[in-house]
Amino acid sequence: MPTVASSSFTDGADLEASAGGDSPSQPIATLLVVDDEAAVRRVLDIRESADRLFRSAVLSGELPNTHLPALLRSIASCVENSQESASNAAHTLSFESALATSALSLLAGQEWRKVRICRNCNWLFVDRSRNASRLWCDMSVCGNRQKAKRHYERRKAAAGDIVHG
Ligand SMILES: [Zn+2]
Repeated sequence: MPTVASSSFTDGADLEASAGGDSPSQPIATLLVVDDEAAVRRVLDIRESADRLFRSAVLSGELPNTHLPALLRSIASCVENSQESASNAAHTLSFESALATSALSLLAGQEWRKVRICRNCNWLFVDRSRNASRLWCDMSVCGNRQKAKRHYERRKAAAGDIVHG
């Protein structure tokens, strides 16, 4: 028997955009997480095919046609097997549908050009900063680790100057 968990989803920018006018402070959708093997496989499939496509786009500066069909197939499979049809709640969304919607929204217009590769963990993130200059997926995690690493290297270099200078 699959485990089903749900939680209120309040801070997803992509979902807010598709919710059409709901206040961001109100829950806009209940996220359904179905923990069965097939659903996990579909989520991983979307994640991997989206990573291949957008990572390649970041590195080449264009959307490569070679990886697009795989992403669309994984999204189609997700839509076909989505749990929403079993639910009559208008504001219920399965995790895999939320992931698929998010990946598709990056293909709209030039949004994919905002995808970056984190300089610390190598994950992909969407840079929505005003001047499009974010270097890390999360400043409080990866940004701080990079700053601490640079600080350590500067101190080490300075200590080396004292010993050898
Ligand atoms: Zn990171």
